[in-house]
Amino acid sequence: MELHIVGSGSGMPVGHRSSSSFWLENNDDVILLDCGDGTSSALHRANLNPLEIGAIVFSHSHSDHWAGFPLLIQRFHLLRREKPLTVLASHRIVKFLKYVLEMSYMWSERIGFEIVWQPIEDGKKYKFKSFSIIPHLNSHLEGYRSDLFRHPLCDIKSFSFEILCDKTRGIYSADIGALSDIDELLHRKAKWLLIEGMHYSVDEFKKWITKKPVEKTIITHIPPEREKADFGNAIVARDGMTIHI
Ligand SMILES: [Zn+2]
Repeated sequence: MELHIVGSGSGMPVGHRSSSSFWLENNDDVILLDCGDGTSSALHRANLNPLEIGAIVFSHSHSDHWAGFPLLIQRFHLLRREKPLTVLASHRIVKFLKYVLEMSYMWSERIGFEIVWQPIEDGKKYKFKSFSIIPHLNSHLEGYRSDLFRHPLCDIKSFSFEILCDKTRGIYSADIGALSDIDELLHRKAKWLLIEGMHYSVDEFKKWITKKPVEKTIITHIPPEREKADFGNAIVARDGMTIHI
């Protein structure tokens, strides 16, 4: 299985890192984890054919994790995509993304292919070809609980993911509130951990990771102030990098 880093940046846009997006490939099956701002261009730079993407998984509603979606759908439309695309996201993000597509003139009758919308819930297993994806709620957006009244589609759900494929198990933390958010997911062995590099202290991370049964750790979501941080033995992601996992 290959992991291609499409976007390794944080919520602070920079020239050399696109926003969060990761291409996970097993034989001919491809899923995209998050689709932040700039993803379509970043796929171009990485020489990845977007038509191979079969499913997109969304972790939460910060724009550095979803804002590339309408333009990617437009690109599919212009490339005359025919095969269906599965989208996995919380119930509210599904409604919100449908709305965004309508407002971008990308309504379902026009785009030329089917989007299979799959609302996701904490702890349930969702199968897509050779992948099984299990979302786990984390505390990343808990601080916005008192802001839920602002719009009916406001969503404080934020997920980390357990990804099973060919008897291997990997974890995509997405954005978390604290390292302890994913402690439970790392009670069992994981072949790989793709973890955001921002919402904790680097010293705390280095202590924490030594006790975890993880074969390969990759740090992403790198903010400008952590470009030179020492994450120990972990691989620090760069856009365009391919990692065999
Ligand atoms: Zn976030």
